[in-house]
Amino acid sequence: MFDNQQINSIKGLETPFYYYDMALLEKTLDKAKNAADKHGFHVHYALKANFNKRILSLIQSKGFGADCVSGNEVSEAIATGFPASTITFAGVGKTDKEITTALEYQIFAFNVESIQEMEVIDELAGRLGHTARVSLRINPNVDAQTHHYITTGLDENKFGVPTSELEKAATAIRELKNIELVGLHFHIGSQITDLNVFKSLCVKVNEWKNWFEERGTVIKVLNVGGGLGVDYHNPDVNSIPDFEAYFDVFDRFLERTPRQEVHFELGRSLVAQCGNLVSRVLYTKSGVKKHFLILDAGMTELMRPALYQAYHKIERVSDENEEGVKLNYDVVGPICESSDSFGKEVSLPISKRGDLIAIRTAGAYGEVMASRYNLREEIRHVYSDSI
Ligand SMILES: *Cc1c(COP(=O)(O)O)cnc(C)c1O
Repeated sequence: MFDNQQINSIKGLETPFYYYDMALLEKTLDKAKNAADKHGFHVHYALKANFNKRILSLIQSKGFGADCVSGNEVSEAIATGFPASTITFAGVGKTDKEITTALEYQIFAFNVESIQEMEVIDELAGRLGHTARVSLRINPNVDAQTHHYITTGLDENKFGVPTSELEKAATAIRELKNIELVGLHFHIGSQITDLNVFKSLCVKVNEWKNWFEERGTVIKVLNVGGGLGVDYHNPDVNSIPDFEAYFDVFDRFLERTPRQEVHFELGRSLVAQCGNLVSRVLYTKSGVKKHFLILDAGMTELMRPALYQAYHKIERVSDENEEGVKLNYDVVGPICESSDSFGKEVSLPISKRGDLIAIRTAGAYGEVMASRYNLREEIRHVYSDSI
């Protein structure tokens, strides 16, 4: 992954840090944008995956919209230069203050997750003398076939309006004077690698779109959310997700009129592969049954393995020949929690104190989840084009 020149430029740096490959990010963004443009699709970038300033700026400069899940993300998107007309705001627990912020910016649409929230938005919009554009987030009960912590579209999940409530929601939309329905919104989960799941989603979207249209409601926008997965096991072979195949599924299976817009909210698939967490071996330790590599990075820098047993490829960063003897290591961090582990029985060249270790595919839900637990240092980052 790292060439010798890159290794030379980073090997003297204080660890741990996130290393962002800006050339790969740009290539990924261009591929995604071109694939979407081919079908006239709109893509909003989900800020929560990574709101590092340089990454946001590059994404903004490529013409993506923004998908936000807090008032601060809405403000950050505006500050970065995303036009308000391309900003969506989702989340099950929007506060009055956050809603007011978004109303004042006159964002493109709120993705509303309950009838009660719609009533609150209506009231706050009325006070400001605005009309709030909303998309109704429907929980379609589609199984994303991904980890249960990142599944969001099942009846048991807290997200969206359950289909049993849609009759009531349709009535509320008609009656609330400061609300304008622009479309329907769906987001069923994350790290979805089976494109058939998206085909099932299309079937549900068609069904509910027809349901609303039969009741005389105009649906301008079909927002199908995000969730496209990346290859955590082969980050070098599949460094860019197959956006063409992904968008083709929606083009083929989503029923729509030429005037109906299709919107996406991609997070992980745009930024995951450009990020690596670079760390140094502090200690090697052999227990009764195990060999441990103790790193200077832990769950405070990358929480995904501790939070949802996520897999990340772990590699030694070395300009030496890697063909030597290998050992199976449990690769762990320094934090006082047993869940502070990056991988068990990871086959690596025999390593020593001071070696650099890269934890791959860490650009999404990595740096943004960093914490100061154990009073750890503020997380650092470097960019491939400015070391
Ligand atoms: C998190 C989230 C996304 C982005 O999901 P990815 O799996 O990162 O593509 C999109 N829309 C909503 C509403 C989200 O909460």
